[in-house]
Amino acid sequence: MAKTVFKPLNVGRVMVFDENHKIYGIALELKVEKGNLRKMAELSESLGIVTRYIQVSMEETGKPTVNAIAFLDFSRAKATPEEALEILTNSYDFVKNAKIIKPQGKGIIFDDYFFPLIAAGERAVIFRKKVYKALFNGVREKFGSAGEAMLYYQGFSIGAEIFDQYVKIAKSRTVEDLVEVARAINMTLGWGVVDDVNVDLEKGHAKLRIYRSFECELSRDQRNPQSHFYRGAVAGVFARFFGKDVEVKEIKCIAMGDPYCEFEIKTR
Ligand SMILES: [Zn+2]
Repeated sequence: MAKTVFKPLNVGRVMVFDENHKIYGIALELKVEKGNLRKMAELSESLGIVTRYIQVSMEETGKPTVNAIAFLDFSRAKATPEEALEILTNSYDFVKNAKIIKPQGKGIIFDDYFFPLIAAGERAVIFRKKVYKALFNGVREKFGSAGEAMLYYQGFSIGAEIFDQYVKIAKSRTVEDLVEVARAINMTLGWGVVDDVNVDLEKGHAKLRIYRSFECELSRDQRNPQSHFYRGAVAGVFARFFGKDVEVKEIKCIAMGDPYCEFEIKTR
């Protein structure tokens, strides 16, 4: 049976905390060497600092340094953040740069040091639900079926363009390899979980499921399937894959109460 329960990952960089806690951030540039994380963990332990969050920027494997951001709890620490920073930079050569981030408000801290975000080699922008809901539902409420058509065509051109990236990342054009890459990218970027992809090369047909589509999750209790943008993206990808015009129908949809959205792709 397909996996239908997913574990969310909070990407962090914003932390809301009890005002009684003393949370500070630290932005670091570190040399990549064996044992460095352990040394820092030992130092923070000796100073009574608790790590609440840490993220290391993913760099190319050959790069000598990495960037990292951490949120540290100084509530019971034996040193102030400034003292801890001084001890850290004086004790270890591998710390190339270190900067303290102070809470921006009462009980809230943001990483206001690193910018922009990079995902899979490109600048990425995160839209939270309120924002993408306004974008997607707004255009449909205002322009009705014309808005839905617009979303479809935008999705289509994105899909057609993204197909080249799938091929580049997969270094292959076989169905199996492309499906793996598509699945990974859709999942990593939070769009949805692609599953059960079946492609009939001879007939020019395909079928696939998407669990938790970000687009269809915006609607409920609908009589019709609700995917326009994502369906367009699927169409764009398969139009390029088959090298022909395609028609994509959404035959199951979470907005209608189905456990997943299912798409049927047919070449014309
Ligand atoms: Zn749907």
